[in-house]
Amino acid sequence: MNFKKSQQAFSEAKRYIPGGVNSPVRAFKSVGLDPIFIEKAKGSKIFDIDGNCYIDYICSWGPLILGHSNDRIIKGIEEIFAKGTSYGVPTEIETSMAKKIVEAVPSVDKVRMVNSGTEATMSALRLARAYTNKNKIIKFGGCYHGHSDGLLVKSGSGTLTYGIPTSPGVNSTVIEDTIVCEYNNIDSVKKAFREYSNDIAAIIVEPVAGNMGVVEADLDFLKYLRDITNENKSLLIFDEVITGFRLAYGGAGEVYDIKPDITCFGKIIGGGLPVGAYGGKAEIMDMIAPLGPVYQAGTLSGNPLAMHMGYKTIEILEENPKIYEELERKAVKLEEGFKEHIASLDIKATVNRVKGMLCLFMGEGPMDSYDQVMKSDTDKYSIFFREMLNRGILFPPAQFEGLFLSTEHSDEDIEKTLEFAYEALKIAYNK
Ligand SMILES: *Cc1c(COP(=O)(O)O)cnc(C)c1O
Repeated sequence: MNFKKSQQAFSEAKRYIPGGVNSPVRAFKSVGLDPIFIEKAKGSKIFDIDGNCYIDYICSWGPLILGHSNDRIIKGIEEIFAKGTSYGVPTEIETSMAKKIVEAVPSVDKVRMVNSGTEATMSALRLARAYTNKNKIIKFGGCYHGHSDGLLVKSGSGTLTYGIPTSPGVNSTVIEDTIVCEYNNIDSVKKAFREYSNDIAAIIVEPVAGNMGVVEADLDFLKYLRDITNENKSLLIFDEVITGFRLAYGGAGEVYDIKPDITCFGKIIGGGLPVGAYGGKAEIMDMIAPLGPVYQAGTLSGNPLAMHMGYKTIEILEENPKIYEELERKAVKLEEGFKEHIASLDIKATVNRVKGMLCLFMGEGPMDSYDQVMKSDTDKYSIFFREMLNRGILFPPAQFEGLFLSTEHSDEDIEKTLEFAYEALKIAYNK
């Protein structure tokens, strides 16, 4: 395959944009390649500016559950352009959108729209602190909740008390109130509550971790988080920016039958435009301005174009509940195919799958914790990624990301992917 135009575009981009990209993972750095630049995409296929076509398993990192440029959600968008794209005063579609989310997610009575997942989690934490009148929050190693300061923390070596910022520019005073616990480790949460029980405002968790590959939370772990927060008058925040409307129509809350106090959304609910949202019990949500004292605002929040794309996406998901069975069926097909390859090549690799979400790890399982996942062989993944790319399959350009499937991925796409995955694994593992 020829990547000449992409390489030129990348050189040019690097002159004007830091690293040539507007979000780091796009630089393909962790697989040691230059990024491909995209010309267009439709359905499950994405085309780069050199004219190469790929089956896309990035799907914009989650929003495109209906595939690229879905005709049904685009329909009507031109009329909105003609009528005006942003007013700064309310529109009815914002209510329609909120109503859809409230009806889909039983733990959500009211919801506030924002412009990204980062904004949703950041605002949810502010709200949780205000509501509980407490300071500290618990997050888990390997969970990603966007790039706000207080969440860019990893656990310090051996100690629970002091987290370390994962980025310069994050002041230690800002993260002082973030406690980092271990995913799927009840004891680590117990310890945190023993030490700070009176001051923990909230636990924020990805109910299925989608930012360290795909790692399922034990049901007992999630139930424990619900119980301990209830007992201590802290809030439980589900970050469903990936899982919302993907794991099921009602998200992880529905699948695990757990009602968090606040849920954060993003990705799918924007249908490919910049959207996030946070919602929960009315009593909590009513603390937000203008009703309450907790300030949170947004010039473009609830923007009509974004609301249209999100609303149409959710409407299609609601009208076609079979979509979720189908996504899972395709994910199972991939899972089984990968597992066959792993067995027949006799290699150390692991597939994690939760419903329609899955990830192929280049390492021996079980991949059930952050420490375990981090043992994956990223060099092997880089080779695998490159070999797949050269065969027209776009996998996430990083080991610790899940595959994103859409309604538009056909059985033929999956079969082709599996056929090439065999060859790519063979090369990556030198078999
Ligand atoms: C993507 C993501 C975010 C951040 O969303 P942005 O729109 O990129 O700011 C937050 N939480 C989770 C779980 C995510 O996957």
